[in-house]
Amino acid sequence: MNTDILIIGSGCAGLYCALQLPEEKKITIITKSDLESSDSFLAQGGMCVQRDESDYESFMEDTLKAGHYENDRHAVDVMIRSSKDVLADLLSYDVEFNRDEDGELLYTREGAHSNKRILFHADITGKEITSKLLAAVKKLSNVTIYEHTAMIDLLVKENRCYGAVIENADSEIELITAETTVLATGGIGGLYAHSTNFRHLTGDALALAVKYGIALKDIDYIQIHPTTFYTKDKTERSFLISESVRGEGAKLRDKNGNRFVNELLPRDLLTKAILEQMEKDNTEFVWEDLREIPEEELNSHFPNIVKHCKEHGYDVRKECIPVVPAQHYFMGGIKVNDVSKTSMEALYAVGETACNGVHGKNRLASNSLLESLVFAKRAAKDISKENTGLEKTKPADIYTEEYWQMFLRKNMQAYKEEQALKENYKELVLNEIEKAKEAR
Ligand SMILES: Cc1cc2nc3c(=O)[nH]c(=O)nc-3n(C[C@H](O)[C@H](O)[C@H](O)COP(=O)(O)OP(=O)(O)OC[C@H]3O[C@@H](n4cnc5c(N)ncnc54)[C@H](O)[C@@H]3O)c2cc1C
Repeated sequence: MNTDILIIGSGCAGLYCALQLPEEKKITIITKSDLESSDSFLAQGGMCVQRDESDYESFMEDTLKAGHYENDRHAVDVMIRSSKDVLADLLSYDVEFNRDEDGELLYTREGAHSNKRILFHADITGKEITSKLLAAVKKLSNVTIYEHTAMIDLLVKENRCYGAVIENADSEIELITAETTVLATGGIGGLYAHSTNFRHLTGDALALAVKYGIALKDIDYIQIHPTTFYTKDKTERSFLISESVRGEGAKLRDKNGNRFVNELLPRDLLTKAILEQMEKDNTEFVWEDLREIPEEELNSHFPNIVKHCKEHGYDVRKECIPVVPAQHYFMGGIKVNDVSKTSMEALYAVGETACNGVHGKNRLASNSLLESLVFAKRAAKDISKENTGLEKTKPADIYTEEYWQMFLRKNMQAYKEEQALKENYKELVLNEIEKAKEAR
């Protein structure tokens, strides 16, 4: 298969990137599972948007403070200043956000935000955004999507990417050669026992980045979400009890029912406090109390949380629910510049697998959908330029389809040993994270 632009991953970053590319380009999107199984569909809380000019300083400060001032200020500036533009795009794709009775957009607040600047669609904001992006992509005749198709290797020669080796839905190994490749493979939660991420998100792009020496950044910065629903079943994805529940007044309690922490602390500090409390109490969870939130608010803003707890035997209107921290988000990733270009020619990375420095050491709640969208659009605009002004080299004539077919035949046996390949990639990523930790 040959394509102009190969996008790997169909979360909000991959889809929005496809929508922003020129319609005369042939675009191929591959996705490891089905189209609805991306973390983008899981985002509950919402998406930050700069309210107005007066919100700029505090949006910047909240993001920097949550990130322990290790953020790239320029990247944060780009994200904040582009937020209105992304919002306008989303509205044009018919994305709906909650509004007041006058039809004005409603904004909510989450931990570590000093202003209400988060747009939401009940507690399924990610699903609302991503399903509308998907619907828009499906209307494009220049885009082909392959589900249950995984990238298992990149085609790389002399620090230039020529596409990917894939395993298709029939478990056949094939090549897709491409002028430009965009990695949009999301987070790394599948590598951890407890994570809110889909289990198939195993940081495959990162493993390949390690393999080919593509620059990485901050890969030991991994966010643990302080409050996921506690269950004894460890094989399931952890269900998130959104930050905005605490923003609306939920309290955390120890085993004796006493409050032990300021619930609106940034995620890393709150996680630390919860883990300390669990150790002190010798428990596997702490309690979250949603009873102060008015019933009407619970039903309109958090229907899925109410439903999930109910299905697991808890009525949030009457009793506390057990919550525990779990791996949630990956701040680090493949190092990219402000147009999402990696250190390899013809290779971009967007969304959670990329690191442009927006989040620093710790992500501010509801900044990741926005960051993914802003920098996916910037990647698309850069790819669309005839001469990017970047170090884009012309593909060498010798690395043709035929060359890559030979490469494929040579490596076929290794690709077929699926389990060994998976373990090898997992080890590559986890070792690299350990090395980064040690180097700090
Ligand atoms: C439970 C939960 C709640 C969240 N809530 C919020 C929130 O309220 N606000 C907010 O801003 N952020 C939130 N986030 C974070 C946010 O959802 C993600 O950071 C964002 O959606 C990432 O988008 P993405 O497109 O990079 O990745 P994803 O949406 O995860 O998409 C990754 C895609 O890559 C594909 N893929 C992976 N590996 C391969 C491979 N080898 N080959 C082919 N395809 C591959 C996957 O199948 C998937 O389609 C939340 C995350 C979770 C888990």
